[in-house]
Amino acid sequence: MRKLFTLLYILVAVTTLSAKDFIVVIDAGHGGKDPGAISGCKKIYEKNVTLKVALAVGEEIKKNHPEVKVLYTRDKDVFVGLNDRAHMANKANADLFISIHTNAAKSRTAKGAETYTLGIEEARTERSLEIAKRENGVILLEDNHERTYANFNPNSPESYIIFEYMQSEHVKESIHIAQYVQENLCSDAQRLDRGVRQAGFLVLNATSMPSILVELGYISNAEEAKYLASATGQKKMSHCISEAFDKYYADLKKSSNANTVTAARPTTSTTAAQTTSTEEDKPIFKIQFLSTSKKLEQGDKAFKGLNPVAYYTDNGMYKYTYGNTTDYNEIVRLKRKVNENFKDAFIVAFVKGERIETQQAIALFKKNNP
Ligand SMILES: [Zn+2]
Repeated sequence: MRKLFTLLYILVAVTTLSAKDFIVVIDAGHGGKDPGAISGCKKIYEKNVTLKVALAVGEEIKKNHPEVKVLYTRDKDVFVGLNDRAHMANKANADLFISIHTNAAKSRTAKGAETYTLGIEEARTERSLEIAKRENGVILLEDNHERTYANFNPNSPESYIIFEYMQSEHVKESIHIAQYVQENLCSDAQRLDRGVRQAGFLVLNATSMPSILVELGYISNAEEAKYLASATGQKKMSHCISEAFDKYYADLKKSSNANTVTAARPTTSTTAAQTTSTEEDKPIFKIQFLSTSKKLEQGDKAFKGLNPVAYYTDNGMYKYTYGNTTDYNEIVRLKRKVNENFKDAFIVAFVKGERIETQQAIALFKKNNP
């Protein structure tokens, strides 16, 4: 009887463990009728590079972590819609989504790797728009894309407003693994560091778990295209990503052992969240709603009744802000009000008068106000 009890206990333990297994979805960008970006020599297709690297990342994760379940959005050369990729991950209740792409630019000299998370504040900068347009443009190849994506026009900057209302609860974890991927690509694979960035990617927007999009390099750069297409390059880059997964996964396990809900903090030196904060170190949140080349006076009708208005200068432009609070929740409420007249208004953050990344400020706020 006792033996049976022990056996039952083991069975229960095993079932509980497997129910908690970690699921990672590896998403090879493009495929089938959508080649993605194409090299100058017309021989190297993004869809082939991303598939090779994605499969290698998955293999390595499986080898190193037999308990982790690896799913692919595609494991061969087929077309898969952006929403379908995300839905697959959501349906599987995945814990992490890694999308793999290569970049392209008109300038043949552009090169380097960058890793993206879904953007809040940066979603409509020129640079992030350019890349989001390119990666989101594939929806135009999907049947019924108007209906599936609620008339989202990947080429219209206005469409990207939706991303500024996004408050992804997974931003912190996404940035956490993005930093590991980026660090590895730049040290081990010696890619030029273009940083961890934010942009409005539909595929990340539709996922309901931490998610990143890796741009391995520029297929439009002859030298880099050669590396992207080479077995050596692909092996190196896939190792960088799977090793970043190792670190992230280890941090998660550590923090769940320590019985904390949130993932461990990223390790880059620039993360203000790591320093102990005093009152004056606390980020101040404001709403940026307008920018002009000439300075406007308080009460200008361009402010549409907002008063008092503050400003800071950036690249010769005057950027006007409304609100001033260390309470992130309050600024979110205030933003709704400002958005009635300024639909593009977004949250900015400052520490000691210096602008800092809003994501970073939010992380700091959450740390100080658990
Ligand atoms: Zn792509």
